Amino acid sequence: MPYPHLLAPLQVGHVTLPNRVLMGSMHVGLEEESGPFPKLSAYFAERARGGVGLIVTGGVAPNRAGQVKPFASTLNSTREARRHRYVTEAVHEAGGRIVMQILHAGRYGYHPWNVAPTRLKSPISPFAPWGLTSRGVRGTVADFVRCAKLAQEAGYDGVEVMGSEGYLINQFLVTHTNRRTDEWGGEYASRMRFPVEIVAGIREAVGPDFLIVYRLSMLDLIPDGSTWDEVLELAQAVERAGASILNTGIGWHEARIPTIATVVPRGAFAWVTRRLRAAGVVKIPLVTSNRINTPEVAEEVLASGAADLVSMARPLLADPEFVAKAAAGTPERINTCIACNQACLDHIFQNKRATCLVNPRAAYETEFVVTRAGEPRRVAVVGGGPAGLSAAVSAAERGHRVTLFEADAHLGGQFDLARRVPGKEEFADTIRYFRTRLMELGVEVRLGERAGLDALRTGFDVVVIATGVLPRAVRFPGADHPSVRSYAEVLRGAPVGRRVAVIGTGGIGHDVAEFLTHRAPEGDPLVAFFAEWGVDYAAWGTPAATRGGLTAATMEAPEREVTMLQRSSAKASKRLGKTTGWIHRATLKNRGVKLLSDVEYDRVDDAGLHIRIRGEARCLEVDTVVVCAGQESQNALVAPLRAAGVTVHVIGGAEEAAELDAKRAIARGARLAAAL
Ligand code: NAP
Ligand code: SF4
Repeated sequence: MPYPHLLAPLQVGHVTLPNRVLMGSMHVGLEEESGPFPKLSAYFAERARGGVGLIVTGGVAPNRAGQVKPFASTLNSTREARRHRYVTEAVHEAGGRIVMQILHAGRYGYHPWNVAPTRLKSPISPFAPWGLTSRGVRGTVADFVRCAKLAQEAGYDGVEVMGSEGYLINQFLVTHTNRRTDEWGGEYASRMRFPVEIVAGIREAVGPDFLIVYRLSMLDLIPDGSTWDEVLELAQAVERAGASILNTGIGWHEARIPTIATVVPRGAFAWVTRRLRAAGVVKIPLVTSNRINTPEVAEEVLASGAADLVSMARPLLADPEFVAKAAAGTPERINTCIACNQACLDHIFQNKRATCLVNPRAAYETEFVVTRAGEPRRVAVVGGGPAGLSAAVSAAERGHRVTLFEADAHLGGQFDLARRVPGKEEFADTIRYFRTRLMELGVEVRLGERAGLDALRTGFDVVVIATGVLPRAVRFPGADHPSVRSYAEVLRGAPVGRRVAVIGTGGIGHDVAEFLTHRAPEGDPLVAFFAEWGVDYAAWGTPAATRGGLTAATMEAPEREVTMLQRSSAKASKRLGKTTGWIHRATLKNRGVKLLSDVEYDRVDDAGLHIRIRGEARCLEVDTVVVCAGQESQNALVAPLRAAGVTVHVIGGAEEAAELDAKRAIARGARLAAAL
């Protein structure tokens, strides 16, 4: 059997889980749907059919004060519970099991009626919380219990109590946010009373045959966070109170250490759960999580004894059939989550429905239905970047006869450049996925071939132009000086000197600055990663551990001095992703990268790059100038094809080079093909 640890069944109380994959909780924006949740039910049912062992829903608040934002879903009435039946029945009919997460946002609530143990504003909500009275705390415990009871009535197999990521339960646990002097504050035994009473109250109300997953913050990554001993104490108390499974939470939302972005090494936090398991203080199954996105990593983590189950949230957004493909021994067919956050978490933080950059059908299962084409057509797709790959695969899935032309000797386009950036190596998995699909679907792939006008005009019913972009060149004197290079040349390995100026501060300017200042770690990459971000990797899990697992960051100075420049005075990183931009900013700051705004470019010569800032002339004495000034569309074929009467569609960067965006390119390719 492939992946024997991952695919082994697990008995938890009265439930037999068919494998060790828990679909982690993730809000997708369908939870607030009115009526019988048709879209949410379809979304979960598709994942249940794909073989996931246990699904956890997005967070549902036990009362109004606990909402993450206004109108966020709550479960506190039998009327609401009846509506949830549609979700649980859809999942059960599909052969799955589902638990509902109860999440009280506490001071993270993005609304003026949020509450907390103490009136201390969080750095990530503009609304200061109301401090809960003792009666209010008891009422909140009762609301958790009632919510769980209603979830049981709604047909859920259990609940997950969200005790991590800095939400209300976490806020009770640490003095950082709990300064109370009553029975809910003070010593740790009193601070942890809140979660323990919640779990005990739920167990009493629901009886033995109902799962209670407790998500325990095993590493807070904030000042004055829990100690390791407190983590152990809480784990035991929660087990005694009646929890069936302990899930791992890593880092509060306000923590400034990346925990799930692509830059985080795969499986980077499994050691935290492993150390809890090794402590031998609890008997119930443990779930580990964070950056586990392939069956190989999941198998390795489980085989190492780190945990009994692995949690994956985004990887199941990217591919609902993850488990089925692993079980079939075809991991190369999995559409791998590349941890970009661009279409999932970034959307949620912008109040938009989540989907997935590599799978635009995610959370649109009822709206984006791929049907067989009435009449197969001969389709030429010109360009093998994200847009062209997506269009070719989707058109072939519909039964069209597809030929894909790619001028380069390999597929990938801009993704082939992105995968060269340290921390973005996994973008290669998207190219691998599409390549596998092209082969399965019998698409004729012509690499190293520029599609000619004549062939396109005569051999095809439809032509899709996905020829992408070219890096924009700068036009000041000396732009052709030998020290000037485009970002594409640099990422492909062109030599770069020690002192570098990067023209442009968009996503690619940031990527190039990271590429140029990256030092391949000597020894264990995890040691280097945690040292760079100030995580107490060596001591966490021992009595010597610091509170919250934080320590001083240390890193070796980079080999290059890099200065980034932009003409505008706007915030340089405003074009970066909502949930990942801060990571790029922090990384470059740690590496001493300088940033200059309000720049006018004069010229490049042997002395370096001559600029003016607010009229004052300066020469940056650099060895190399890397141009990251955006892109221009490559679409010269479009006009002659149209003039010849050919049906032409233009997608991706060839259509729109400004705001070049893989999410839009892949979605546009798939949607176009769905309509061909
Ligand atoms: P971009 O975001 O449009 O940034 C282009 C930069 O070049 C700007 O800083 C602009 O600043 C400067 N510029 C534009 N025209 C110029 C000219 N003629 N001369 C000198 N400077 C000029 O483009 P990008 O960095 O190439 O990124 C393209 C797309 O890739 C983005 O839309 C993003 O979605 C995506 N991407 C994102 C990430 C990420 O979030 N980490 C990473 C890679 C790519 P001034 O006009 O102020 O000089
Ligand atoms: Fe993963 Fe990116 Fe898709 Fe989110 S949008 S699920 S991070 S690939």
